[in-house]
Amino acid sequence: MGNILEVRGLCVAYGKVEAVQDVNLAVPEGSIVTVIGPNGAGKTTTLAALMGLLPARGEIRFDGRPVRRGQVEQLVAQGLALVPESRDLFGEMSIEDNLSLGAYRRGRAEAKATLDEVYALFPRLLERRAQAAGTLSGGERQMLAVGRALMGRPKLLMLDEPSLGLAPLIVRDIFRIIVKLRSLGVSVLLVEQNARAALQVADHAYVLENGRVGLEGPAAELASDPRVIESYLGLS
Ligand code: ATP
Repeated sequence: MGNILEVRGLCVAYGKVEAVQDVNLAVPEGSIVTVIGPNGAGKTTTLAALMGLLPARGEIRFDGRPVRRGQVEQLVAQGLALVPESRDLFGEMSIEDNLSLGAYRRGRAEAKATLDEVYALFPRLLERRAQAAGTLSGGERQMLAVGRALMGRPKLLMLDEPSLGLAPLIVRDIFRIIVKLRSLGVSVLLVEQNARAALQVADHAYVLENGRVGLEGPAAELASDPRVIESYLGLS
């Protein structure tokens, strides 16, 4: 199988700040690829560029087609989804209405079938489906944000720091779902500061530092690389 996403020589600048410099990466179909790195490394900027939200140089191909700036609608229709770090939910609206928004491009019957699948993945959302999104716990919000992205039946799900602010047990739940998604055929690009958790679930990993890919390799290899252990995994 080929790569669902291919990125070559990606550069993004904010004025004089070169936030992303010459980044090359690929997501093979059906795999989990993680990009780890510290605050300010350029992870969020990379995702925004991949979604066509920022002016960028270089080549981005999603599912064989070039990604150009400002094509978000088209990319989503093509099967690309981004769950931003902010999770961007509609707080006054119920869980179910938030989920339905994720499928507004699709037919009613199809959306209903997908809703059932999302509830099967996240029984907690089903239990609380009438509850306002704004009253959910951090973990539930993250589940809802992922669930909403899945309502569009993406081929590639891009997640920006899904573990941010969540307790370890909840992080484990979220990452278990990510692994399950891979088994369901969804490819995943996982941006994380929680290198330990990300390297446990990913197939391949990239370390982003100061806008550049410092190291890359199979996730299991990076997890035992002394440089990664020292900088990102600590001694514990
Ligand atoms: P974090 O984990 O803290 O979100 P990150 O790896 O996602 O970090 P980015 O948010 O992509 O990093 O930021 C990369 C660099 O670009 C940083 O130096 C940041 O200050 C800068 N930057 C990000 N957004 C903007 C912006 N809108 N205007 C100017 N500079 C920005």
